[in-house]
Amino acid sequence: MMDTQLVLTGFLKRAQRYFPNKQIISRTSPTKTHRITFNDYVKRTHRLADALTKLGMKRGTKVGTFAWNHHRHLEAYFAIPSSGAVLHTINIRLAPEHIVYIINHAEDEILLIDSDLFPLVEPALGHLKTVKHIIVMGDELSAPQSSFPNVYSYEQLLQEADENFEFPTDLDENLPAGMCYTSATTGMPKGVVYTHRSIVLHSLALGLAESFAIKESDTALPIVPMFHANAWGFPFAALNFGSNIILPGPMMTPGLVLDLIEQEKVTITAGVPTIWLGALSEQEKQPRDLSSVRLIISGGSASPKGLIQAYNEKLGVPYINAYGMTETSPLVSMSHLISEMNDYTDDEQLNIRVSQGLTVSLIETEVVNENGPVPWDGKTMGELRVRGPWIASEYYNDERTKEAFRDGWLYTGDIAVYTKEGYIKITDRTKDLIKSGGEWISSVDLENALMSHPAVFEAAVIAVPHPKWQERPLACVVLKEGATASKEELIESIELEFAKWWLPDDVVFLNEIPKTSVGKFLKATLREQLKDYEVQ
Ligand code: ADP
Repeated sequence: MMDTQLVLTGFLKRAQRYFPNKQIISRTSPTKTHRITFNDYVKRTHRLADALTKLGMKRGTKVGTFAWNHHRHLEAYFAIPSSGAVLHTINIRLAPEHIVYIINHAEDEILLIDSDLFPLVEPALGHLKTVKHIIVMGDELSAPQSSFPNVYSYEQLLQEADENFEFPTDLDENLPAGMCYTSATTGMPKGVVYTHRSIVLHSLALGLAESFAIKESDTALPIVPMFHANAWGFPFAALNFGSNIILPGPMMTPGLVLDLIEQEKVTITAGVPTIWLGALSEQEKQPRDLSSVRLIISGGSASPKGLIQAYNEKLGVPYINAYGMTETSPLVSMSHLISEMNDYTDDEQLNIRVSQGLTVSLIETEVVNENGPVPWDGKTMGELRVRGPWIASEYYNDERTKEAFRDGWLYTGDIAVYTKEGYIKITDRTKDLIKSGGEWISSVDLENALMSHPAVFEAAVIAVPHPKWQERPLACVVLKEGATASKEELIESIELEFAKWWLPDDVVFLNEIPKTSVGKFLKATLREQLKDYEVQ
């Protein structure tokens, strides 16, 4: 067989050749929408590559992006790797200290920054050690005032660039193409480097029926940011398969998500559960037409049962849970039901939907404890480990590599069980697990159960120190607007589902649960805030 290289340039050629009229629709501000065809988009991508090359971008040069989801960011997604350079997407919601750290650690030489985010970055520019050029992305044809010497306007550079710029044809599939740092909850962020090959294979996997089934007839709306694990691979897959793509721009709210779905007849969309929780209450207040949607993908953290039920049953919109990490490109598994489950009761089916799902093709997973791989019994817990062609094999220049990458596996730091059908069920992060009297209690299961209570908006269960049991579960609950519920009532509502010793010793009512930059519960902060809390 021919040994052709799996490189991203092929996706770009395909987009222009077969799908020239498909569209990239960006919401560039709360009131403006920008539309561009694949044909024009590819031309601009060539121009951007030319402009970056003139500024000194070479093979291996790291180019950072600091931007929302929009067409210019998508131009960078292809212009940089197709030239043999490395696209480093920077999480704009990280603390300034972390942003400076990752730009210096990655050794970015050029930065592409959104014009509305530029004032945010300006004060940090003096701390950047390797950046030589900054390009400001916006409609403006002139660069903003800055103390930094080389600041350019993106549109002006593109005007002056050549749309016939030729991408190299000899790229090796194992060349680095992209880079993303995990949003650190402890310590400094860790860098993951994606190769052309890993991105191409992951993109193809997103076309499988067992995963997202992305296809030409789709209109895809990735709400997940382009700085978070490549917006879960949507931008690459959409260009390759010829799907229209909607990029929701800055300041996304649940109401705007629903408006976009209705206006653009979105067929597939993806984001973290927090977004879907917000969208659900917005939909209940002001219903939009969601009939075009064939699939909502929720990932990044667990979706409570009630949320899955509300979308699938009340709204009639298929809502599926997907599991992955920055280190895994991200797709590892997805909770589609398989045909033998058609005969399952509603409850049995819901138990599968709430799981993290079946491992996708080409990826291997195992759950291991001190006795080796655990049986598929739904109860024996261990750490989930993963390997496959789009799973990282190390952290970029980072000593922490040896903690997570061992024996040819990535140890995920997630505690899981396998259901009897081989579906992964995450019960905790290793660091969030509650160890009571030597036994493990799953905070995720307790949260799920609490969030099924009609008065509960969000619930996070954390370990608090205990003199006799070492740790005991404490439930932190945010009630829905105007709703009331007592501690006793909440505990009673989940009593039948768990062994008595699993039940939270106490419930604290909060106004909000602290969240990470990508909307996950920040349990480390909760634990810190409540470390002296004495359970009643
Ligand atoms: P970071 O590690 O930077 O917070 P990631 O998105 O890489 O960001 O986080 C990966 C982690 O998110 C996983 O290890 C797992 O704990 C959690 N996670 C991802 N998807 C799911 C899901 N569907 N259900 C439960 N947890 C999930």
